[in-house]
Amino acid sequence: MSQALRELRELLGPEGWVEPADQEPYLKEWRGRYRGRAAAVVRPVDTAMTAAVVRHCRASDLAIVPQSGNTGLCGGAAPDGSGSQVLLSLDRLNKIREIDPDNQTITAEAGCTLAAVQRAAAAVGRYFPLDLAAADRTMIGGALATNAGGVNVLHYGNARALALGIEVVLADGRIWNGLRGLRKDNSGYDLRNLFIGSEGTLGIITAGVLRLFTQPAQTVSAVCGLPRLERAPSLLAALQEGVGERLVGCELMSRFSVETALSLPGCEEPLAHSHPWYLLIRVTDVADATPLGERLARVLQRLDMIAEARVASHTQAAALWRLRKAIPAGQASAGASIKHDISVPISRIPAFVTAVHDAVERAVPGTRPCIFGHLGDGNLHVNLSQPPAMAAEAFTAETTRLNRIVHDLTAACAGSIAAEHGIGQLKRAALREYGDPVGLDLMRRIKTALDPDGLLNPGKVL
Ligand SMILES: Cc1cc2nc3c(=O)[nH]c(=O)nc-3n(C[C@H](O)[C@H](O)[C@H](O)COP(=O)(O)OP(=O)(O)OC[C@H]3O[C@@H](n4cnc5c(N)ncnc54)[C@H](O)[C@@H]3O)c2cc1C
Repeated sequence: MSQALRELRELLGPEGWVEPADQEPYLKEWRGRYRGRAAAVVRPVDTAMTAAVVRHCRASDLAIVPQSGNTGLCGGAAPDGSGSQVLLSLDRLNKIREIDPDNQTITAEAGCTLAAVQRAAAAVGRYFPLDLAAADRTMIGGALATNAGGVNVLHYGNARALALGIEVVLADGRIWNGLRGLRKDNSGYDLRNLFIGSEGTLGIITAGVLRLFTQPAQTVSAVCGLPRLERAPSLLAALQEGVGERLVGCELMSRFSVETALSLPGCEEPLAHSHPWYLLIRVTDVADATPLGERLARVLQRLDMIAEARVASHTQAAALWRLRKAIPAGQASAGASIKHDISVPISRIPAFVTAVHDAVERAVPGTRPCIFGHLGDGNLHVNLSQPPAMAAEAFTAETTRLNRIVHDLTAACAGSIAAEHGIGQLKRAALREYGDPVGLDLMRRIKTALDPDGLLNPGKVL
């Protein structure tokens, strides 16, 4: 072990130093797609220690890969294969520093899981809406670093919209205290939103002041079967007219995506009949005067583009959301999958999906598009499952060609090739290809200004 690493170990103490035999969970992404090696895996316990680690790494010319819950899907939290980078886990910074119910804010450290923040908010009668299928493992630091979305973005916005302030350890080891709980603050450049979504390349987020909301008094879910996708955007608009601001989630699931989830235990058919497309709807109300389920049922009855609909009981709702959340895992049952996380204007979704189906069928006949996602955000996961008769390796060999098809069609619809999961290592080349050249130039200048030595998460995003 080098002198620099010995000093680092001393600085962290035994609790903060992960021995090589215990490093595997930090070095490997949960699906096994990315695996790296590290010179050291360290777990500082607070912001001051995080800053000390950064200063030491800077002085010793050691690059740092920040990691929170390690649930990211783009390889952003994995070190490279050189064995020369320090993996800095935020998982011990897991304190709720403050809850201010009257200001409707919670100050949580980077290593708090989304589920822990949701529980802490509920304990004081408040609601923290950032929610996704990995909420038990995803941490605040990672959610902010990737500007995570999830199932409630339609109403509450993504991580950026939910963060009022953040604390960041900069590449030079200084601590920027931007932990403000203000709704209005026009005092200069918006530094907070520069770090949010920067995937660990500009600074290490150690805590955030997050917005809380009134606990919904009523939450009702419904599922609709759609014979065609063409009118889904009008259906969304009609729902928004019918239930207004109460619509908090509107998830789209293709029949094939539902079938993959049905392969898992605990998942059941959402409706009596099978339909090409499903919409999973969630409405909430902070008042409990008008029964929300009846209101939603009346709205759904008026909509002629729905083939079959069911307003769910409490238990049925849990089963429906379990089904939705099971889709990413269920896809494993359909063999190799080439995944995309794109967004297009909501109105263009039907034409985009038809074009994807046609183009991938022409390119690799038998490919099964597994399309699901957040209709209300224009964000679709366009995951392509292998043809049953094709070998997995032969299908994955087509990745570049199929990526190009999906991304070209996305660009043709004025969409984004990275809607919510970020860039990481996975989409670096695609960002270079599809990103606006002037925007990319600005990003590179910002990176150079904030991290001139390229210490933070090299090889990611840019
Ligand atoms: C089953 C499943 C479902 C998912 N569903 C969604 C979804 O609906 N919406 C969505 O947006 N995402 C979703 N994701 C992706 C993932 O959960 C998010 O990207 C999440 O925000 C990552 O958080 P994390 O704590 O796991 O971060 P990590 O995976 O640890 O890190 C992600 C990136 O952020 C950087 N980073 C981590 N912590 C910090 C920090 N403290 N400071 C600076 N940089 C940091 C890392 O270097 C890396 O580049 C899903 C993932 C899974 C496994």
